Formats: sequence, structure tokens, C-alpha cells
Amino acid sequence: MSTTVPAAALTLAAQPMLVRRAAVLGAGTMGSRIAAHLANAGIPSLLLDIVPDGDGARSRLAVAAIAALGKSKPAALYEPLLAGLITPGNFEDDLPKLAACDWVVEAVAENLEIKTALLHRVLPHLAPHAVLTTNTSGLPVGKIAAGLMGKRDRFFGTHFFNPPRYMRLLEIVATPESDAAAVSAFAAFADRMLGKQVVFANDTPNFIANRIGVAVMFTAATLMLEQGLTVEEVDALTGPAIGWPRTGTFRLADMVGIDVLAHVAANFPQGAQGGRFSEILGEIVKRGWLGDKAGQGFYKKTRGADGKELRSVLDLERLEYREAGKAALPSLEMAKNAATVEERLRLLLANDPKKDKAAKFLWPFLAALWNFAADRIGEVADDAPSIDEAMRAGFNWELGPFEMWDAAGVKETVARMETLSVPASLNVKRLLKVSREATTVAWYSPDGPQCFKPATEDWDPVPQHPGHARVAEFRRAHGVARSNAGASLIDLGDGIGCIELHSMKNAIGGDVVALTSAVLRPDSDAVRDFSGFVITGDRDNFSVGANLMQLLLAAQEGEWDEVDGAIRAFQQMTQAIKFCPRPVVVAPFGMTLGGGTEMCLHAARRQPHAETYIGLVESGVGLIPGGGGTKEMLLRAVDAATAIARPDPRGQDPGPARLAQSGEMLTALKRALETIAMAKVSTSAAEARGLGLLSEADRITLNRERLLKDAKTVAMELAGAGYAAPAPRTRIPAPGTAALATLEMGIFLMGEGGFASEHDQKVARWAAYILCGGRVTPGVALSEQYLLDLEREAFLSLCGERKTQERIAFTLKTGKPLRN
Ligand code: NAD
Repeated sequence: MSTTVPAAALTLAAQPMLVRRAAVLGAGTMGSRIAAHLANAGIPSLLLDIVPDGDGARSRLAVAAIAALGKSKPAALYEPLLAGLITPGNFEDDLPKLAACDWVVEAVAENLEIKTALLHRVLPHLAPHAVLTTNTSGLPVGKIAAGLMGKRDRFFGTHFFNPPRYMRLLEIVATPESDAAAVSAFAAFADRMLGKQVVFANDTPNFIANRIGVAVMFTAATLMLEQGLTVEEVDALTGPAIGWPRTGTFRLADMVGIDVLAHVAANFPQGAQGGRFSEILGEIVKRGWLGDKAGQGFYKKTRGADGKELRSVLDLERLEYREAGKAALPSLEMAKNAATVEERLRLLLANDPKKDKAAKFLWPFLAALWNFAADRIGEVADDAPSIDEAMRAGFNWELGPFEMWDAAGVKETVARMETLSVPASLNVKRLLKVSREATTVAWYSPDGPQCFKPATEDWDPVPQHPGHARVAEFRRAHGVARSNAGASLIDLGDGIGCIELHSMKNAIGGDVVALTSAVLRPDSDAVRDFSGFVITGDRDNFSVGANLMQLLLAAQEGEWDEVDGAIRAFQQMTQAIKFCPRPVVVAPFGMTLGGGTEMCLHAARRQPHAETYIGLVESGVGLIPGGGGTKEMLLRAVDAATAIARPDPRGQDPGPARLAQSGEMLTALKRALETIAMAKVSTSAAEARGLGLLSEADRITLNRERLLKDAKTVAMELAGAGYAAPAPRTRIPAPGTAALATLEMGIFLMGEGGFASEHDQKVARWAAYILCGGRVTPGVALSEQYLLDLEREAFLSLCGERKTQERIAFTLKTGKPLRN
């Protein structure tokens, strides 16, 4: 029985649906956060829920849910103010308002009767063109659709993952009656405007990701009981060792909620779960040990007599908590040296299961996962790549099951399964049959984006999403024009070159500086040959900042010439970015700190991913931004003040001296000083605008997969519009002594109030000094080079301070700032 529309008809390449206004039915965990994410995308929404019994405002459930969004952790909103885009309401009074909504999404309790009864009431109020979807995580979408006379063509499932802001996956589940054009238009909207990784799933229990993700949890738990392993050991074996998140199996269960998991498991076709672990799970749910929301689940945090936090873990045999330990699995430690997850998997599986605990677990575990996933092709989704994508985006696996299988070697692993008497999936046998002649057998063809399709016993093109790309694809297709250990220059086509950062932790050391400066120099071959540049990367973080290790070693040795040379080189790099004759677009994502932020500040334009955590954090290690960052913050303050400063009474331009001493200038300078001295880091790209680190002209990309091409498009636009580099500024009006006195007073008061240590104040005074252009007469004209010289003087002076060196050493060791 086929319950789906032909997948070929569904595509992300459609014209995105226009959602001017949306409505979310149900203000619970998911409903309120979907509304929050709509607000993140700038879309106003109506958030409705039931009118509870008793006295009080009739919409109080939605009102309370919106208020709670501001406090939710992790934050559901890019910025607290965005909550203003959500209008609370209730199902009794506000259904007529649905007429103005282009999309209505239902997210009420997971109960077929409740959902169908509500949708029945909603139906008469919907605009004819409106799309109606359900966020069910496991009920058959076709059954919910059954009662929706007249709307069935514009109804389908939109399964968001919790929390919707951060979890990339969106499973879209069409029914046979859904109109493929409407589904595709919605998918294109979700891909671009909501930044979701859309996967088309079939209408089968729990769809794709939960079906496989929860099944493997049961496999892991069952093997644990059989092999007498501990919860900590299984979490270590099902974590980063195999390219999965740190939460492993049981920490993840605690986060998701053990009742939710039990509920998902109950949806499975008969016989798919069961066994001892199901019994244990039932008992845990009965006791209310539901995970993080109940304060205890597989793990529990308590405080010892000394007030220290203790972590205990559930012994599943006795259902008692005991002190949690660290898993001692030597082969996992060894495997950490592998450069990639592919290599790590091969290393781990090469060990003898008879002697090695990890191999003993991983062989049956991964074999079960791979066979289970292979059996699901054509059932939960039409093709293997959709399953891989769903597991990567929904469970944050580095590789999907088929990609993992390819890494471990299909032929080799199936042969091994036979010796372990594990039956291999019929679908992999088809693959082996068809590839009889080949030396290596793999689901994905090495010579192009194709994947094996068991139903046709042939290779099908892997669905390409227009606008999605990573640097690695261009690296493979076009090769590397120039490269060192920290960065590469890669041709993105259409005249755009990409500087890809790929050093250790993406720290900016001598190698990144050298390559970037050499590429962007006005007389370089690259500048002659390309018409624009993008600076970005493929990792989780854009950059953790300058390479502190190199700096600390030089400072401790008293190699001041070396330190001076390093700052000069860094400044030359940022100036090369700014004054490059071709437009340079920086596309940051994830952590973008210190020197990474300075690269952004000097670009012609920034195209950040929505989840960019950006800040000038140098003061945390006892330094000031010395790569042009402090200078750029002053320039932004001057420009902001100029834009709003009132003309003098005769309507004249305020003039440099008046501007330098204006209230507007002081306000802008205070903001810049705060951003620097308090090492403020934005919690989103949207928030970075408020910190003055991004401008209104910088557009934000919500979908990480679209970031590279969006940045490339901006570089092409700038180049196409006849880009000319700015000239170095030489008439920057110095705020000078008056402003400096005010800023210094503020710093002193912060110290008196106990908000800043002696050393914090020293660092802040240096930042203030540069921001004011030194102790000069207000209005004096400064050049950018002069400000860079001030930065260098401050940076060198602070590097010589013992407390700064202590801070750097501490941060290198712990990753955290030291407040000394
Ligand atoms: P929830 O319990 O937090 O919220 C459910 C909402 O439904 C509440 O606001 C409640 O007032 C409302 N409701 C209850 N009874 C109702 C009735 N008779 N009529 C109308 N409304 C009623 O649940 P949730 O976790 O937000 O889940 C909502 C939907 O999203 C479910 O279908 C669930 O399966 C799905 N989902 C949940 C998650 C998750 O992790 N929580 C993830 C993906 C999908």
C-alpha cells in the first residue's frame, strides 16, 4: 500500500510560498516555540490555545507561553523583543482571525480525537488559499486529513523537532490528496525563510528520524543489558566516537523526556520494540523519572554535603542511582587520534570483538542500525539519501547510516555479519549483487552524486537542493587554487573566490593571516582574476579568534619584536580585507570571536548565519582588539553620531569639534566601549546588530546550508554594481580628552561598584583611550593608520602584563575567561 504522493513531484526548487501572517494552534512546548521561530523569521503570528476553566484572562495560556519564551533556555527567540510579533488568543474568541493567515499549523496534544475535533472547528475560518499543517510526531497524517473536507489538498504534516529554532530537521509528510505544488511551495518557504533542512517523509509511524533514532536507542539499551555495560559506557560508545553528539543515548533520552520516547516507541508497528528494556522503561515512566524536566531520569544531579554538584546515574538492573563515573574504554581513547569520523569507525571496528569491549558492542549495534535503515528504504522515505539527511539534521549525526556504512566498508561489514550470524538486509544484498564486479561496494557512487536505489537496483541521482552548498563541494569540483594548513583559496565559479578557514579550531594564526593577506593584496593574481571574494568555512564555528598559543609563548619569552610583528601582520590582513579592490564578503557562523569578529568588521559586507555568536572578547584575556577591531568600533560610533547629530542652530553641519563633543557621540562611544570592555557576545546574528557588530545592510541567512551561496550572491551583486573599495579615512574627528574623561569616570565607577577588577579597568582604559583617539583635542583629524598604531601600543603594553598572561594561559587550558 502506498500512502504517499510520488516524491518526484515534491521539490525544494519551487517558488517559496508567501507567508505574511501565520497562526499556531496550541501554545505548549512546540506551539509556542514554532511561533517564536516564526518571529525570528520576521513573520507575525497568532498563538491560540484553549480557554482554561476558572477565573482569569481567557487567553492566559498563550499569554503565559509568550512570557515564558523570554526565559526559555536555550533561547527560543533571536532577541527578546521579537516576542512582540506573537499575538495571544484562544480557540473560543479568535478563530475568525485565522482568515488573515496564509499558514495555520496545529500543535495541540498528540491525540487523534483532540486534533480532528479542533481542526473541524478551524476549517470554516480558513482562507481558501491557506495551507493547514499538523505538527504530529507520529499520528498518521492521512487519518487526521480524513475529516478535512475541502482542505485536504492544502493539508499535510510539518514535523518540527524540539527546539525548533535549533533543530534543523523539518519532516514534511504529504498525503495522497495533498497538492504537490502547495507542498513544494511550503517546503521552499521552510528551507529559505525558516532555515529548515526539509526532508520529505512518508506517512509511516514516527516518520523517518524518530523511527530510526528511537529504534537504535532500544538496540543500544538491549545490548547494554545483554553485555552488562553501564549507562556511561553506552553513552561513550554512542557519542562522538561514532560521530554522534556528546549526549550519547541516555543523556539524550533525559533531554527529550523519557515519557516522550516511550510514547514514540508505543507507535512502532507491533513487535518492533518490547523486551526487557521496554519493561524497565515502563517502570521508569511510572516512577516519574522522566529526565531533565523531572530533575532525574537516567542521570540525576544532586549536591553533596560540601555543596559540590554530584552526578549520579541509574543502575538499570536495580533501578537505583549510583555515583556516575567516566567510561573506561581504552579503544575509544585510541580512536580519538583519528582525523575523521570515517577513519575512527574503521579503527573501532578493526578491533577483535572477543577481546575489546567497544568492538563487542559496536559490531552488533551498527549492524542492527544499518540493516534497520536499509529495510526502511522505500518505506519511511523513497531513497537512502533522505534517511541520511534526516538523521544528520534531526539527531545531529555527523554521517547518516548509509554514509557510516560506506565508511566502514559495505562488503567487509556484510561478510563480518555473516560470521556473527547477523542476517543482512535484503536491500544491501541487492547492492552487493549489482556491484559484484566492483572492488569496493558503497551506497554512494564515488564519481558523482548518485546513490543506490534497491527498488530499481540502479543508482539514482542524489536530490540536489538549489542554493545549498558547502565549500567542500567546490574544493572537489574545482580543486584548490592555493592552500596552507590554516586556509585555502577555492574557486566558487562565477568569478568568486572563497577563502576557507580550516585551521585547528579555526583559530587565526600565522598561516591564515599569510594566505588571506597574500590573496587579497591589491596586486595579487587572485585579485586580478576574481571579481569578488567570500571568507567562510565548513566547520561548526567560523573562528575562536587569534591563535593565543603562539601569542602567549612569544609574550612569555619576552619576544616583543615577534609580538609586534604578529599584530602588524594581523592588521595588514584586516586592512587587506577592507581595502581590497574587489568586494570581500565575510560569512560567519557559530562562534565568531575576537580576531574572527575583526575580519567581519573589515568586510565590504557580512552575510552571517542566524546562529552566529559574535563578539570582541579580547578583554576576557586581558587584551584589546588589536587587529583593527577597536578602530572599526570608533568609525562606527563616529558614523552613527554623524547620522543623528543635530545641525547647529544655523542649520550648519555640526563640524568636527562639535560632533566630537556631542551627546550622540558620547552615547555611541559608550556603547562601543561596553561591547569591547565587557567582551559582549551576541546570542544570535540579529542581536549582533544591537551590539554594533553587524549593520542593517547585512542580511542574515537562516539556513546554514544556504550560507555559502548567499554570501557568493552578495559578492556577485557588489561586484556587478561596480564595486569600488573605500579610501583609507584620514579625517576622523577625534572624540579626544573630554570624551575620554567621561569614559574613564564610567570605568572608575564600574570598579567602585565591584563590577570590574583592577585589571579589567586597566584593559577598559586602554580601549577607551583608543576609542577617543588618545589624549588629544576634540575634533582633531585622525587617520585609520594612527588608530592602528594606538591599538598596537595598547596590545603590546597589555601583553607584557602578568595578569594578561595568566588570563591567556587559563583560557587556553579551560576555554573559559579568568577574572583576575
Ligand atoms: P504540550 O503538551 O506542551 O502542548 C499541547 C497543547 O495542546 C497545550 O497547549 C494544550 O493546552 C493543548 N490542548 C490540550 N488539550 C486540548 C484540547 N482538547 N483541545 C485543544 N487544545 C488542547 O505538547 P507539545 O510537546 O507541544 O506537542 C504538541 C504536538 O507536537 C504534538 O502533536 C506532539 O506530538 C508534537 N511534537 C512534540 C515534540 C516534542 O518534543 N515535544 C516534537 C515534535 C512534535
